[in-house]
Amino acid sequence: MEATASLLDAAAVGDLVLLDPLTEESLLHALQERFRHRDIYTYIGNVVISVNPYCSLPIYTPEKVQEYHGCNFFAVKPHIYAIADDAYRSLRDRDRDQCILITGESGAGKTEASKLVMSYVAAVCGKGEEVTKVKEQLLQSNPVLEAFGNAKTIRNDNSSRFGKYMDVEFDFKGEPLGGVISNYLLEKSRIVRHVRGERNFHIFYQLLAGGSAELLQRLRLRQDCRHYGYLNRESCSLPGVDDAANFRAVQNAMEVIGFSPAEVTALLEVTAVVLKLGNVQLSSRFQASGMEACSIPEPRELEEICQLVGLDPGTLEQALCSRTVKARDEVVLTSLSVSQGYYGRDALAKNIYSRLFDWLVNRINTSIQVKPGKQRKVMGVLDIYGFEIFQDNGFEQFVINYCNEKLQQIFILLTLKEEQEEYIREGIQWTPVEFFDNSIICNLIENGTCGILAMLDEECLRPGTVSEDTFLGKLDQVCAAHRHYESKATQNAKRVTDVSLPPRCFRIHHYAGKVTYNATGFIEKNNDLLFRDLSQAMWASRHPLLRSLFPEGDPQKVSLKLPPTAGSQFKASVATLMKNLYSKNPNYIRCIKPNETKTAMLFTPELVLAQIRYLGLLENVRVRRAGYAFRQLYGPFLERYKMLCKKTWPRWAGSERTGVEALLAELPIPAEELAYGHSKLFIRSPRTLFDLERRRQER
Ligand code: ADP
Ligand code: MG
Repeated sequence: MEATASLLDAAAVGDLVLLDPLTEESLLHALQERFRHRDIYTYIGNVVISVNPYCSLPIYTPEKVQEYHGCNFFAVKPHIYAIADDAYRSLRDRDRDQCILITGESGAGKTEASKLVMSYVAAVCGKGEEVTKVKEQLLQSNPVLEAFGNAKTIRNDNSSRFGKYMDVEFDFKGEPLGGVISNYLLEKSRIVRHVRGERNFHIFYQLLAGGSAELLQRLRLRQDCRHYGYLNRESCSLPGVDDAANFRAVQNAMEVIGFSPAEVTALLEVTAVVLKLGNVQLSSRFQASGMEACSIPEPRELEEICQLVGLDPGTLEQALCSRTVKARDEVVLTSLSVSQGYYGRDALAKNIYSRLFDWLVNRINTSIQVKPGKQRKVMGVLDIYGFEIFQDNGFEQFVINYCNEKLQQIFILLTLKEEQEEYIREGIQWTPVEFFDNSIICNLIENGTCGILAMLDEECLRPGTVSEDTFLGKLDQVCAAHRHYESKATQNAKRVTDVSLPPRCFRIHHYAGKVTYNATGFIEKNNDLLFRDLSQAMWASRHPLLRSLFPEGDPQKVSLKLPPTAGSQFKASVATLMKNLYSKNPNYIRCIKPNETKTAMLFTPELVLAQIRYLGLLENVRVRRAGYAFRQLYGPFLERYKMLCKKTWPRWAGSERTGVEALLAELPIPAEELAYGHSKLFIRSPRTLFDLERRRQER
């Protein structure tokens, strides 16, 4: 019973539900004390808090896997394996679909946690040739997706630049059958731009460092990454990272998953096209009319791209440098300016890459999908960016924080639902709990007619000049009275003068804190337009993969309808995700980053405190112990405390429950502190438990 081993010592409180008193400070202190003892995992009920140690700890060995396999949750130290085991067993034996939600800020350890969960489950879920093959395929999807979707950032050398949800499907025996992966919001702007000290996606460096001379020649690539405009000019390699070896691992992984050599080649050809597009230089030329026009002075890179993907250089050059405009019945070719040309080129590179990434996810899914009709049980693992509050917050932060707002909502709903279900199962009276319901904030963002996303869409569709100013004006009209919305106008109206907003900004009071968003770029990013000439050029390519990425380029299928906006697509995929999660039994892993310098075992209290706030941990504990802070099966409880009472010591002859009743009556513990369920005893406040514990120690 480690959870109550020696409750009087902060470091030993493995479950924060037992914290007394419960404050932000006591919570912080408990985490810090535990971390100091190298206990990086702590519970809140069955939520795991994980504090990144930034060094390898000897707690993930095969022996540890054995220790946690089939363990009694409360009998062993808090560990991510314990939650993985609990979830897996509940899926296998009690037929309850599970989801594991992992959140936290960049570098907090989410992706490592998701890999630990997957590898644990893989280690305990059955043997045999067929099963082993499925496991291999599922696990090998990771290096492939990381190569294309991860990059070095300031915060994390291996930062996931996309959100990932993976359903692993099992048969009735609990053996894996396959799975489905969904991806969210790849940070495609990284293709064309990254800040100093960061890198583009790993795959580019891996390919250049690890591709054979023959392969690079085939792809018409040069090995020196400094040659490429989209890659770092300063330095390309990372200390401690062997890009070449990783490239071989990725190639191997694709083979294990079932990619054919032709598919791998096609994938790398399109990847090379993206890289080479960044080297297509545009310059201006003055036409006879005196107008500035864009042209490609040095056609070599363009020609190589065209050779790679079977395109006519004239077609691509025209699409990069001009636009067809339909005016009434006439089709006119107008030249772009150089900056418009670059804008189009970069938009094309971003679009190719992000669509290629979607294709990659689909292709992996084709290999790991389970035949329809099979009965299955599902474990979903979600690894997605946590709440982001930066100095400068744009459209990306806005949608990411919206997603986190939704995850918080479902967290509250599911936690309360689960508590309620347990009380009903145990036959105990349920009294509703007061909690902060954040649906009001979700609604502010997602409401179909007057939500911020809907108004942004409306602005994007409006003919005439659209701008962030008119968008902001509209927000002010519709949201002015909303308690969680703030702008210059509402500040003026309410005479708020303390924290004024920079121009073109609005502020949302999220559950996790106030965030100021700069509306600049919202319209462009939401529209996410690619000039039609470019998609038509891609569709004209003789490269089946590239062509398949641009179905809208088919001139037969020109639709007048605009494609769905980035915001509405994201909203729809979040809604699907929420529905999926809601049907499952949730398990949470909340990751905390203890320092900004990736230093081993360093704990910066201010930094952790901020995360405690926006992970909502205090609220989490409150909800968890809304009714009863502690619950335990009668058997183990009697075993631990029977020494406190003459009637039950050394042995109680009756049932476990009557033994517990006799024990607690003799002590005595006030009746209102207790509830007797069908199989468990419930204790209302931690103090009562501490009291029992103290008496036990005094014996
Ligand atoms: P996130 O996905 O939250 O951005 P990662 O999971 O990529 O963060 O973790 C960032 C880095 O922190 C990893 O590359 C690793 O060096 C370190 N790390 C994370 N979790 C652990 C752990 N449990 N033990 C040791 N190091 C870890
Ligand atoms: Mg990650």
